[in-house]
Amino acid sequence: MACGVETENERGLCQSCWVDTHFATGQVCDSCGVPVPEGEQDVIHCDSCLSFPPAWDQGRCSVLYVGAGRKLALLLKHSDRLDLVPEMIKWMYASCASLLDENTVIIPVPLHRFRLLRRRFNQAAVLAQKLGNLSGDIVHVDALRRIKPTKTQKNMCRDERFKNLDQSMILNPRFKDRLKGKSVLLVDDVMTTGATLSACAEICRAAGAKKVNVVTFARVARPE
Ligand SMILES: [Zn+2]
Ligand SMILES: [Zn+2]
Repeated sequence: MACGVETENERGLCQSCWVDTHFATGQVCDSCGVPVPEGEQDVIHCDSCLSFPPAWDQGRCSVLYVGAGRKLALLLKHSDRLDLVPEMIKWMYASCASLLDENTVIIPVPLHRFRLLRRRFNQAAVLAQKLGNLSGDIVHVDALRRIKPTKTQKNMCRDERFKNLDQSMILNPRFKDRLKGKSVLLVDDVMTTGATLSACAEICRAAGAKKVNVVTFARVARPE
């Protein structure tokens, strides 16, 4: 999947990529899903989520954004490697299955149409759709919209990211009454500071969602 070496299964990781993939398993932060040292409490939060509590309820990720996990996220985003999605989705489903209930609706983080033109597909929407196929939950691909093309957040610090996102997203008016009482599961490929996901979570909550959880493929463990 990540390096092109032939593997036994059609889509799998070779041994060295497997070793190079940091799966988020064991005891994880209840807000973002990164592994945390085993503790006595049932619910544990990582340092980052303790310092900056996110706007959503619970969150999970499949891998850390390092090594082969980072490579996979980049291949999906910039190299159109949609063939990786089925396997990535299996990992994401396993990570977030405990957060799903009969009221769940799945919503991807939106991409502005300018960026959509350049990139041709919204990787978050693809992941959301496939996750819904696997879990059987309803997917509202179009529930959130980005109305301002935000600047790329790559080199921004946390405060700049939050400012950059301010009022850049809205609820699609068609979904005005459709999130009431729902458990929303927000889907994105990568979580860095969580600014984008927090902005989405606030919109869903304002629309009456009872719970807002998130799942991402990869989590940047130590955002600066
Ligand atoms: Zn490999
Ligand atoms: Zn966390």
